[in-house]
Amino acid sequence: MNEADSDKLAAGLARLGWQQVPRPEDADLAVVNSCVVRQKAENRAVSYLGHLRRIKEARDGNASLRIAVTGCIVGPRTEGLRARFPYVDVWARPQSFDALIRHLLPGSDLGGEFWPDTFPEPKGPTAFVPVIHGCNKFCTFCIVPYRRGRERSRTIDDVAREVAFHCSNGVREVTLLGQTVEAYGKEIDARPSGSKPDLADLFVAIHDTPGLQRIRFLTSYPRDMTERIVRAVADLPKVCEHFNIPVQAADNEVLARMRRGYTIEEYTQWVHRIRDVVPSASLSTDVIVGFCGETDAQFQRTLDLLEQVRFDKVHTAAYSPRPGTFACRHLEDDVPREEKMRRLHAVEALQERIATEINQALLDTTQEVVIEGEQDGILTGRTRSNKLVHWPRPSWPCPSGPCPSGRGEAAPGDLVNVRITRTSPWALRGVQAEADSPVGAVPA
Ligand code: SF4
Repeated sequence: MNEADSDKLAAGLARLGWQQVPRPEDADLAVVNSCVVRQKAENRAVSYLGHLRRIKEARDGNASLRIAVTGCIVGPRTEGLRARFPYVDVWARPQSFDALIRHLLPGSDLGGEFWPDTFPEPKGPTAFVPVIHGCNKFCTFCIVPYRRGRERSRTIDDVAREVAFHCSNGVREVTLLGQTVEAYGKEIDARPSGSKPDLADLFVAIHDTPGLQRIRFLTSYPRDMTERIVRAVADLPKVCEHFNIPVQAADNEVLARMRRGYTIEEYTQWVHRIRDVVPSASLSTDVIVGFCGETDAQFQRTLDLLEQVRFDKVHTAAYSPRPGTFACRHLEDDVPREEKMRRLHAVEALQERIATEINQALLDTTQEVVIEGEQDGILTGRTRSNKLVHWPRPSWPCPSGPCPSGRGEAAPGDLVNVRITRTSPWALRGVQAEADSPVGAVPA
């Protein structure tokens, strides 16, 4: 989300006549887009601000460097930040593009919160497209709702125009983003039919955009999921069958302390429902280990869940209190650091085994991959199920047949078939296969 926000801000500044320079030493303005989801990320932002301060202090008054800070480090009140970083000129809350621009260029107006006519220049064949800002869930460990505010959805037209812009500039795959992306549309006024637009409507609205090959979406939240959205993933050929559904913990007491808003039974019901309707779906999740009061037995339930569901990927974090959250103010961070690390490593070791087994099953299958880049003759892309694949650039004539782009060689954005020849828990290796190879099948 931050990456997409930074690109949008850069596009807005470019519309107002600013130019990017490669080094902060050459800049008139530096914008730091911060993330404070974990202490490590916050430390990096603070350390970079120190670097900018030294540049600013070394300047003559006339060539002064203005420093703006946005992102999740900025809450509704900035007195504390102003006292701590007196050399910062502008503070703006995450995605408050307008506030930032008004400080920098008074009187500038790019059309309200979402800057509906300002689209970031694509950097390659894939693009992130935020469709809903903010979050209403207030999980006790999370700072996001305090910083990004309540859920606000862009209009379908606005998103569709951005996707069309990207695709006319070479993008072939878009990822629709939201902290809880299935909440899309809930606060938009009902249509004349009485229904509200939802993520499934958004899939349909952008599906036939010329040039678009794939649609992804992030991040899912169990209580916002609907049968209609899951069905749309199954029915619409360009929507990739991949769901990232953070579970965070598998014990109901821990989930209640986190105020996640679901029980583990409700969570696993959605997993079963997705697998019923979209049997080829890949699933990833997020887990926090060592949350306040988590006992060994409660942590064991997380391990049991991972064994039971067999996610394709698990993003694991050891709990660290974030100032300003409910958990930081009211719950005791009582799991010792060594124990958190032990649990973290236990999840990682288990998931490594599970991912090894899942990926091994792909050996000798053919996968459809959009080429995202190339380094030293090795092409890189992802399967529909979001697995990273590397394969050597094929020698001419290309086994995939006539080049889809007409350029005579595979290039980023092309959709090609790759036969998987090697697997690891983290990525796949392969060779380019004939364009008519049956995708997904293991040869007899
Ligand atoms: S759903 Fe919970 S964890 Fe996710 S952004 Fe919202 S408050 Fe944070």
